Amino acid sequence: MAIREILTVPDPRLKEVSKPVEGGVTDELRALMDDMLETMYDAPGIGLAAIQIGVPKRVIVMDLAGPEEEPQPRYFVNPEILPLTEDLAPYEEGCLSVPDVFDEVERPTQCRVRYLDYNGKEVDEIAEGMFAVCIQHEMDHLEGTLFIDHLSRLKRQRAVDKVKKAKRLEAKSAKSRSAA
Ligand code: ZN
Repeated sequence: MAIREILTVPDPRLKEVSKPVEGGVTDELRALMDDMLETMYDAPGIGLAAIQIGVPKRVIVMDLAGPEEEPQPRYFVNPEILPLTEDLAPYEEGCLSVPDVFDEVERPTQCRVRYLDYNGKEVDEIAEGMFAVCIQHEMDHLEGTLFIDHLSRLKRQRAVDKVKKAKRLEAKSAKSRSAA
């Protein structure tokens, strides 16, 4: 397993539409999912789509276990979702590709999710609560959409500027460290 670099805005790859996995869940794909999970835990985050490490495949990993709970890794290959209600609820979201930015997004409170799991088994389940929020956020990544794309233009621009500025500062301090 390896920790991969997480892409951040405004990296154009985050706008790419990811392609379906063909040929089922192979060892190679499991190795990718292992890396994704390790990268997500290291960040730390609760969900990660393959495109966030630059791989445009329809693959998501997630772990919604609380800090005191045992890890509960979940893997989604070629996921499809169907909203089951018109009821929307706001939730304050964040994203590893938009570090340190949080804002409310409204999404359907319940949806149906179909996917292949880590072993290639077909799963069909109902997502509610945190799971519904997270799977919809991650599904957006597969379409090249970020949570800030649901916000106003001004808020979106502010978010991108904030990440760019933080990156510039980080690069600067790395430089002065290596010079010292
Ligand atoms: Zn995200």
